[in-house]
Amino acid sequence: MLKEIPLLKSETIDSFKNMDFADIAVNIISKFIGDLISGEKIQQIVNNALNFEVPIERISDNDYLCYLDRGPTCSFKDFGARMLARIMEHFLEIDNKNITILTATSGDTGGAVAQAFYKMSRIKVIVLFPKNEISDLQRKQMTTLGENITAFGINGKFDDCQKLVKTAFADKELRHKNLSSANSINFGRLIPQTLYYFWSYSRITTEKHEKVIFSVPSGNFGNLTGGLIAKKMGLPIMRFISAVNENNEFPTFLITEIYTKVEPSINCISNAMNVGHPSNLARIFDLYEGQIDEKGIIQKIPNMEDLRNDIISYSISDEGTKETIVKFYKKYDKIIEPHGAVGWAALQKYRNAYPKYNDVKSITFETANPSKFPEEIINLIDIVPEMPHSLKLIQDKPEFPNPKEINTYSDFKGFLLEEFQD
Ligand SMILES: *Cc1c(COP(=O)(O)O)cnc(C)c1O
Repeated sequence: MLKEIPLLKSETIDSFKNMDFADIAVNIISKFIGDLISGEKIQQIVNNALNFEVPIERISDNDYLCYLDRGPTCSFKDFGARMLARIMEHFLEIDNKNITILTATSGDTGGAVAQAFYKMSRIKVIVLFPKNEISDLQRKQMTTLGENITAFGINGKFDDCQKLVKTAFADKELRHKNLSSANSINFGRLIPQTLYYFWSYSRITTEKHEKVIFSVPSGNFGNLTGGLIAKKMGLPIMRFISAVNENNEFPTFLITEIYTKVEPSINCISNAMNVGHPSNLARIFDLYEGQIDEKGIIQKIPNMEDLRNDIISYSISDEGTKETIVKFYKKYDKIIEPHGAVGWAALQKYRNAYPKYNDVKSITFETANPSKFPEEIINLIDIVPEMPHSLKLIQDKPEFPNPKEINTYSDFKGFLLEEFQD
């Protein structure tokens, strides 16, 4: 966790109203790393990494949707992965170094990371994914690239991939090989996830110091952590709604102060949020003067009053998610996908519980594109969601074969050692 979170003046936040996304991004990122990277370079990195739209749409009265699905892999993970890739590349250039990124994915992260680091000459990426548990499109986001990207389909679950990666990181014989990770517990991915909070706030508010509500579809809690950092930086956020699927460890904790991992995690249709023990929870505890360890044991209870003031959390069942997709379509003639639907459903719960805040504007994040979940959408509303150009391109590209059959850690290590020889 950062030792210090920069505080923005309220005039600075007001001035964002007259800036475009890239200018706001440069402004905020400079506050974190301005003494390490020149303004000009940050501008260049931002223009290059965040070269897509972040639309905001008013859905009803005071409730808005902010679309985080316009990057190349059509999930909000493009923000973090693409910024991290370019910042890493910049420092590797300066140090004249090369690294290898090892990462395990349950689906979305691997694609975003692979696409983000594609063709970077100083960085090799090795992604492990569970062969039989991801969609064709998710796999193709990793296996159609080649060049510096190697993707392994593993016979097993995400946990098996994760175990191989963790064993490699702990392996003494690989220690001097410059291995790095790019998962959501990397802080470089969190800073870019504060940007769209400032951006969407600046587009929908009219009053000075106006407060807003954010509804954040949450799994590993990286997105929410980005929001909490934005609030600490001074953004007037009245409340976060942390919207989770049936993996309800966090809302239960907020009520009972007892934390129990959901183990194994529950498979829901919002599959990027099937997390039973979010790794960013440790950061959230830290922001509220608490401490929780990797195993999920609370070492110090956070300031519950502050935590509850800032965050309310609702768990939405798959049934509730599906119902929301159908209702949303009937009412607004728009398609929302399962992750965004969890966020929208949680917002409705909040609106029903707190009518006194109906005047406060809200922003819900749509974190993926509906066309990534075609079967679900067709089943529910009988419409084939249109696929954005970037996904169509990937869908039609040929795949590279699995580079090697990996059944044991020793198979994997064999591959890594060969790889490091050249
Ligand atoms: C990863 C992901 C989420 C959850 O975000 P966290 O930062 O892990 O809480 C939500 N929606 C989609 C589409 C995702 O890929």
